[in-house]
Amino acid sequence: MKNIKKSIELFKEAKLHMPGGVNSPVRAFKNIDGNPIFFKKAKGAYLFDADNNKYIDYIGSWGPMIMGHSNPKIVNAISKQLKLGTSYGAPTSIESETAKLIKQCVPSIEKIRMVNSGTEATMSAIRLARGYTKRDKIIKFDGCYHGHVDSLLIKAGSGVSTFGLPDSPGIPNELAKKTLSCEFNNKEEFLKVFKKIKGDLAAVIVEPVAGNMGFIPGDKSFLKLLRKKTSENKSLLIFDEVMSGFRVSLGGAQELYKIKPDLTTLGKVIGGGLPVGAFGGKKKIMDFLAPNGPVYQAGTLSGNPLAMAAGSMLIKLLIKTNPYKKLEDKAANLLQGMKNVFDANDIPFSVNQLGGMFGFFFSEKLPKNFKDVVKTNDKHFKNFLNQCIENGIYFAPSKFEAGFISTKHTKTEINNTIMTTKNIINKGI
Ligand SMILES: *Cc1c(COP(=O)(O)O)cnc(C)c1O
Repeated sequence: MKNIKKSIELFKEAKLHMPGGVNSPVRAFKNIDGNPIFFKKAKGAYLFDADNNKYIDYIGSWGPMIMGHSNPKIVNAISKQLKLGTSYGAPTSIESETAKLIKQCVPSIEKIRMVNSGTEATMSAIRLARGYTKRDKIIKFDGCYHGHVDSLLIKAGSGVSTFGLPDSPGIPNELAKKTLSCEFNNKEEFLKVFKKIKGDLAAVIVEPVAGNMGFIPGDKSFLKLLRKKTSENKSLLIFDEVMSGFRVSLGGAQELYKIKPDLTTLGKVIGGGLPVGAFGGKKKIMDFLAPNGPVYQAGTLSGNPLAMAAGSMLIKLLIKTNPYKKLEDKAANLLQGMKNVFDANDIPFSVNQLGGMFGFFFSEKLPKNFKDVVKTNDKHFKNFLNQCIENGIYFAPSKFEAGFISTKHTKTEINNTIMTTKNIINKGI
């Protein structure tokens, strides 16, 4: 057994001070009944834990480490700003510079506002959509995660016509009722709900490439239907690209699908590893925000210079190198190599990838929606994941999360991962 003594001690200590010992639930490893690993350092494709164990990292801080951990150019950009001050609570030129870089890559964004997290981005986008359309209802999709916003922490569960029930206590039922959740990639179900509530529909929000029910790209015809129906109805289409933005391609999922949403939310990659979110879109909608318009939204640390320095440097590097095709090829090599091992052992295993994002499932066929993911084999997932961590491979510790690869993952790391998979399967999962 790998020695994770310090991680075990640190988790015990953390539990005394923080609920569940963590500041974000997935980190507690409850999904795989494991002890979370505590890290102290990261470089390139690797993480180093408190006991000095080394791991190949396929989470990359859930996306931002697309050019590897501690990328020297990003570290340098942060250090340079650090010497000039960490926050002024006032405008800086680097905010416009970052905004311009994002707009250049994502043309549907004509104006943008920076915030501090993905949750803040989706929360503000929903408020703006409601204020702009003067309507209240929202349609979302089961298994799409849009941060822990009251109006979005809802999945319909049992049926097309049932109004949303909150996923968490603390969300008023009156508010939950304004959000309806349909099955992802299910056009008929969407149309049924849409017809019923279209008079009061402010917005449809979707992860065009879902990364929070494992990795499931939306069907093109499904996303096109959302675009058509919202346009006809003067409702807004919000693409939540907090995860897919600058991850699946420079222009996000909307570039690959050639669909222009009214509003886009971003986060993760655009902060270069510092806390950043953003939402943007059509000028006339964005100008509905204070101070130009009546919809209020604000942030003491929004557009923070350190975060803008890290984010703009990363975006510049991505524009310069456009690594997405290479990342996708690497992910495909990794997954095909793993799949060969599972196939040879008659263990159902399906894989998919797009740009720097990927997913694998213990199922014969690739899941199309949340329900399909629920049905994939839990025992295989749990055992495989725990064995991977034991052997220095750090995949997301839940079958409802995606995988991430960086430009620093080379043949060495990929072959190592495939060999490790082979060894694990030979011992049995
Ligand atoms: C991570 C994520 C969020 C929430 O972002 P936070 O920064 O964790 O608040 C929202 N939407 C999507 C699609 C995400 O992946």
